[in-house]
Amino acid sequence: VPSLAERLAAIVGASHVLTDPALTASYDVDWTGRFRGRAAMVVRPRSTSEVAAVLGECAAASVPVVPQGGNTGLVGGSVPVGVPRAVLLSLRRLSWLDPVDHDAGQVWVGAGATIAAVAGHARAAGWDFGLDFAARDSATVGGAVATNAGGERVLRHGPARAQVLGVEAVLADGRLVARAGPRGAGGVVKESAGYDLGALLAGSEGTLAVLTAVRLRLVPALPSRVVAVVGVAGTAAAQRVLSAVRRRVEGLAAAELFHADGLALVRAHTGLPPPLGSEHPAYLLVECAGQSDPTEALADALDGVAEVGDAAVATDPPGRAALWRYREAHPEAVGALGVPVKLDVSVPPTALATAETAIRAAVLAVAPAARLIVWSHLAEANLHVNVLFAESLAEQVSDAALNAVAAHGGSISAEHGIGRAKARWLSLTRSPTEIAVMRAVKSALDPRGQLNPGALFPPED
Ligand SMILES: Cc1cc2nc3c(=O)[nH]c(=O)nc-3n(C[C@H](O)[C@H](O)[C@H](O)COP(=O)(O)OP(=O)(O)OC[C@H]3O[C@@H](n4cnc5c(N)ncnc54)[C@H](O)[C@@H]3O)c2cc1C
Repeated sequence: VPSLAERLAAIVGASHVLTDPALTASYDVDWTGRFRGRAAMVVRPRSTSEVAAVLGECAAASVPVVPQGGNTGLVGGSVPVGVPRAVLLSLRRLSWLDPVDHDAGQVWVGAGATIAAVAGHARAAGWDFGLDFAARDSATVGGAVATNAGGERVLRHGPARAQVLGVEAVLADGRLVARAGPRGAGGVVKESAGYDLGALLAGSEGTLAVLTAVRLRLVPALPSRVVAVVGVAGTAAAQRVLSAVRRRVEGLAAAELFHADGLALVRAHTGLPPPLGSEHPAYLLVECAGQSDPTEALADALDGVAEVGDAAVATDPPGRAALWRYREAHPEAVGALGVPVKLDVSVPPTALATAETAIRAAVLAVAPAARLIVWSHLAEANLHVNVLFAESLAEQVSDAALNAVAAHGGSISAEHGIGRAKARWLSLTRSPTEIAVMRAVKSALDPRGQLNPGALFPPED
């Protein structure tokens, strides 16, 4: 009788079933290095039908499957921690891009296409893609939809879920879930025919089905852009500046906040010069975009806002990229110092400054030697709390910080998902009935619990 590895090799080809630990190692550990598992094998299909056949074999063998895209997820959901005998299903080879449906501004892409590849493809067709974040060169569309990723453009275009117009996916038993009729480059632009499977799978973190293709909404390509980094006194001041810009500048496209300690780390890591002539406790980065140059509108909006200290402005692509680098280099600068406990949370915007202070105090109370580096997608009051030098206290740090978030009416995950890192705390954010409904959906789609066991749901008593 052929082994499971042999049966899977017959589907995807022997060179795409990896069992040698030297080859599987990079799939077993997450981007931060905090989560490390051990898959029995890594399987790399290249088509929807191969995914379906692989899942059918795994179901027949009662073997759990952990789906993985670019493996840039930050909550341990993409690696087989505590999942014995797992098949790690890498979707990266499903990286095809259909031609853009030019008039509708839509495109079907394979789940393994990277965010950067989709953006490049959309731009070449005169459109743009509404999703963007620093992991764009590795993160895949499937992973972004599965985590309902957010990033830097949420304020304008919404999170990953808002970009999804249709999905094609495979259930744990190998059945294909796809819209009736041919996929094609065209297809309906509007539909109200029952449950929205794309919306359901967005945020499902590989626990309900394996996404194989996504039909994406594209957004207008806005050629004129301006980026400003503004020095401010702190979080509350930054919110007041942002409010002034939001009310007055139609083309506001991004608003990110970082602090002096994070900037110092970034500068030490990258060798970048200071962004402004003077130092400030915090820095607000805003980007505005339009068909015509939005610089004057932004300058008018900032003019006379008392909280604006110094500002640096760039309109040319290299200058804009240089300003963005101060914000986007934060994750790698933090990672260079150690393995951080990463907490991605959101709070009601009016509670942002007080919640941030409370989270910092709660973490330091349980881990006095910890160092906190915080940055935010400011418009959504989405804090990225990075706790360094506290890896051995990860549970206590998470418990303290997430309870502080809940006490301020916040969510324990704004955009990274729950994964394995936060499963224990799901009830801080979701009511018992919501969790029961989610479990009911899970058991309807994956009754034997084969897809990504241990992710998203807290262990049942
Ligand atoms: C430097 C850096 C910056 C980041 N910035 C942001 C940010 O600003 N905003 C943000 O939201 N995230 C951010 N992230 C987190 C991460 O990039 C996103 O969550 C991303 O969407 C994950 O995509 P991926 O392809 O790497 O998925 P993976 O990490 O491989 O998987 C993530 C989850 O999705 C599941 N999954 C993956 N592919 C599929 C599929 N085809 N079908 C079903 N389930 C699947 C996995 O099982 C896992 O649970 C950042 C990460 C890094 C490293």
